[in-house]
Amino acid sequence: MQPTNTKDPQYFHKVVDCQWGCPAHTDVPAYIRHIAQGEFTEAYMINRESNVFPGILGRVCDRPCEPACRRVRVEEEPVAICRLKRVAGDLKGDIQQLLPNIPKKKNGKKIAIVGGGCASLTVANDLLPLGYEVDIFESLPVMGGLIRSNIPKFRLPPEVIDEEFNIIVEQGANLHLNHPIDSMKELLTESYDAFFIGTGAPKGRELDLPGRKDSNQIHIGISWLESVAFEHIDTVGKKVLIIGGGNTAMDCCRTSLRLGADNVKVMYRGTRDRMKSSDWELEPALEEDVDLMLNHSPDEYVVENGKLVGMRFSVLDWSKDEKGKLVSQKIDDVVIPCDTVILAIGQENSFPWVERDIGLEFDQWEVPVVDPVTYESTIKGVFFGGDAAFGPKNIIEAVEHGHQAAISIHKYCENEAMTDRLEYGMNLVTAKMGIHEWSYSNDYGYENRFEVPTVPMNERFKDINIEVELGFEPGQFQQEVERCLNCDIQTDFAANLCIECDACIDICPVNCLMITENDEEDNLRKKIKTPANNLEQDLFVSEDLPQTGRVMLKDEDVCIHCGLCAERCPTAAWDMKKFTLKVPYALDEANSNNKNETKKAV
Ligand code: SF4
Ligand code: SF4
Repeated sequence: MQPTNTKDPQYFHKVVDCQWGCPAHTDVPAYIRHIAQGEFTEAYMINRESNVFPGILGRVCDRPCEPACRRVRVEEEPVAICRLKRVAGDLKGDIQQLLPNIPKKKNGKKIAIVGGGCASLTVANDLLPLGYEVDIFESLPVMGGLIRSNIPKFRLPPEVIDEEFNIIVEQGANLHLNHPIDSMKELLTESYDAFFIGTGAPKGRELDLPGRKDSNQIHIGISWLESVAFEHIDTVGKKVLIIGGGNTAMDCCRTSLRLGADNVKVMYRGTRDRMKSSDWELEPALEEDVDLMLNHSPDEYVVENGKLVGMRFSVLDWSKDEKGKLVSQKIDDVVIPCDTVILAIGQENSFPWVERDIGLEFDQWEVPVVDPVTYESTIKGVFFGGDAAFGPKNIIEAVEHGHQAAISIHKYCENEAMTDRLEYGMNLVTAKMGIHEWSYSNDYGYENRFEVPTVPMNERFKDINIEVELGFEPGQFQQEVERCLNCDIQTDFAANLCIECDACIDICPVNCLMITENDEEDNLRKKIKTPANNLEQDLFVSEDLPQTGRVMLKDEDVCIHCGLCAERCPTAAWDMKKFTLKVPYALDEANSNNKNETKKAV
């Protein structure tokens, strides 16, 4: 194998599993260490730089970082990354002085942003410090977009949305609430230099089965949640069926319980492992006594005398055919009594306000054709992001779209090539404080993950707005932070200093090091004492060692970043170094114009 190029920022980035898994590349271990030190404001600002809305995301992020967390490979349960983010949000101090300066003299460019959700506000957040004038048009009377209308208040209190969105508005965005845009054609005639569309995927899928038109007790989930959020609906039937298996279904069933339903069933046509809802969305619903009925495929709404009385389902058995494809077989036919059905089978894009003769192309699913790097549509200067760009995703992806679109908008306005973007950079700084002393807590702890405390069951249904999760108490998060393995503190190896004494190999508690003759990757992976079988994780191969020409191998998969190799090494060939990924934002692109930094043609 060729020696590993650890100067490529992506090499160590990948070792920081949570940061690699996060679409916005949040420096998770750095903020966890700040929380450990009681530096909540610093922890918040590290989050804010990349994910912009730590208080919101600390409650409702889809948290792709957690399944990626190294703790999952070492034991089972990931670090509670998401809920630690909430700790930073809840306990931070005043951040006003830490926000970027907004120039009083504007740069003369005006941007129209349609939709007041997370992608849109991220664009505003990134462009305001560059002197742009930003107009945000939101059809609702409040900001937040789908997180305001579709996420129940018992999971995300409105004050949290207000606080984090207001930070950006108070930096000078012109907010136009109750201001729907009815015509893209007209908007394009207005004097803006660029346009960003962040209107989400606001249309819930229909389930047009027999009986659909015969009752007014059948609702589309996301519209129903919006009506509940804006207090247009405050009751529901006693026997409620939720059709669907995603997170919207979980929000609908828990909301139904709070509106007075006695029995709520989530009906899903497949098996549990195919449900889209995350465990952390499903489990609270089950705890609250929602029934989950798997393998039930809806066939008909049963309506008698204009009244919904049940729903007919085929009960399915699933197996694989000879090609390995999942196939279903009907094994029964049942009618489940109900007086309300809520459809939560997905949502899609909807652009009734975009005329189809203006040159903006859509694909066969009515999703606009958007460049995956620049986020520009087929009309120059019109950018999309969030769910509006590629269909429903999640909040953290919407934020990343916003960052990338802001870079493109700036380059578009400056007449620069939008594909000529700054590369990621990195810093690597030693964590050594003394011979056996590091600037991070390198002890390996065996504590189990701490579950976030919640409001007792007999209290939580008293008011639909009671936030169920209470957040970590100090004693709890102080233990949870210790579970983080500091994957950003990297093992940095200087081959020229190695005397091949094997001390590091002897002391490594997970046997992930080896000195051996260089070879093909397959063979090297087998040579390590604990074979490096996880092909998704890289193998580090050093330069040839000076004494024998052999190489140092390290399996990145299982290293727990304990630093013992560096402590034991008599020549300091190993060091533990804090890796910081430098993620370029619009402000960095603007500043780089003067400094001539390296650009990457994408
Ligand atoms: S152990 Fe800590 S640094 Fe490593 S992946 Fe998990 S949260 Fe991130
Ligand atoms: S830091 Fe060094 S000793 Fe500790 S697990 Fe990683 S390679 Fe082994």
